[in-house]
Amino acid sequence: MASVELKGLSKHYGNAVAVDDVSLRVEHGQLVCLLGPSGCGKTTTLRLIAGFVEPSAGEIEIGGRVLSSPSRTVPPEGRKMSMIFQSYALWPHMTVAENVAYGLKIRKVDRATLDAKVKAILTTARLDALADRYPGELSGGQQQRVSLARALVVEPETLLLDEPLSNLDANLREEMRFEIRRLHDQYRYTTVYVTHDQAEAMTTADLIAVMNKGKVEQLGSPEEIYARPRSEFVARFIGGSNILRGSILDASRVSVAGAALQTNGRKLQPGRAIAISIRQHEIDISSGDSHLDEDNNLRGVVMRQVFLGSTRDYTVALDDRTELRVTAPPDRNIPPGTPVRLHLPADRCRVLAEEGA
Ligand code: ATP
Repeated sequence: MASVELKGLSKHYGNAVAVDDVSLRVEHGQLVCLLGPSGCGKTTTLRLIAGFVEPSAGEIEIGGRVLSSPSRTVPPEGRKMSMIFQSYALWPHMTVAENVAYGLKIRKVDRATLDAKVKAILTTARLDALADRYPGELSGGQQQRVSLARALVVEPETLLLDEPLSNLDANLREEMRFEIRRLHDQYRYTTVYVTHDQAEAMTTADLIAVMNKGKVEQLGSPEEIYARPRSEFVARFIGGSNILRGSILDASRVSVAGAALQTNGRKLQPGRAIAISIRQHEIDISSGDSHLDEDNNLRGVVMRQVFLGSTRDYTVALDDRTELRVTAPPDRNIPPGTPVRLHLPADRCRVLAEEGA
């Protein structure tokens, strides 16, 4: 196993910047997800780590050795890595066991060791009963487990996964997230996992790097990224937050839509414009207008509401320009047009960094 370190890594295609000055360290045995929307530079970063692409600037060190720099890039076959793509790329004319054994065969591992390793990984990946089947006789999830087993059996220093579950249906995808995490807990290969799916990243990762426009916008544990998004982009991308714009009243309070909100976060500088984020389920909605003179209570009018079974989803207008989404218990049934009080708890009003800060 080896650590992976990206130092000031950039990749330009003509004038287009695919990866922009990314620095990131993945410790031995950690699983890091690169998470972000289409086009943010995830796959290019992974291909740089794999050695398929040469950097325009910066370096990649694996296990302390520089494997990529603008002057010298070690090719993929010299990197002791396994990479798994969206398409499983299994050999159709080989059985499951033969597919898994292939990487060991070309490394000329002796027969007894090969048999023992293949047996062990097939058991771990719950494929032993399918060892003699051909890929055409397997479901999508089973094929993906074979491609994982095939990548793990060669004991790579680093495992790279590029949207490995995107070809599976929703139920199977959910099951396979846990499977990937279970295999990772068992083998602890240093892993870089590319996905645009927030739930996939939250389930599998030790650390999530949220990417936007070629840069890592925030790096942290799933809990940190969810609880303390630092920018508007991260707050919107992870867990659907409302963003409220206002001005700073004093060291801890912000004025939004005519009301004062105590906030959670850094010390504020009065007079400046600011944005805060709060999640839909963190806002309490009730009909009536009591306590509206107290901090953290906003006046609004219900515009729409939808019954979703386990919750009710409200859209509430604060004024002509600002609407908030609120998730409430299903039995709190307030018709459109009703004046309401929204309570935004101070510890949930997260102050965001200004754009570009
Ligand atoms: P997706 O989830 O859609 O795969 P991504 O986050 O993986 O997106 P990349 O594939 O890394 O994004 O692409 C980042 C940017 O770099 C995009 O704007 C893309 O158009 C551009 N790009 C990637 N490869 C090339 C290339 N070979 N030539 C020119 N531009 C490229």
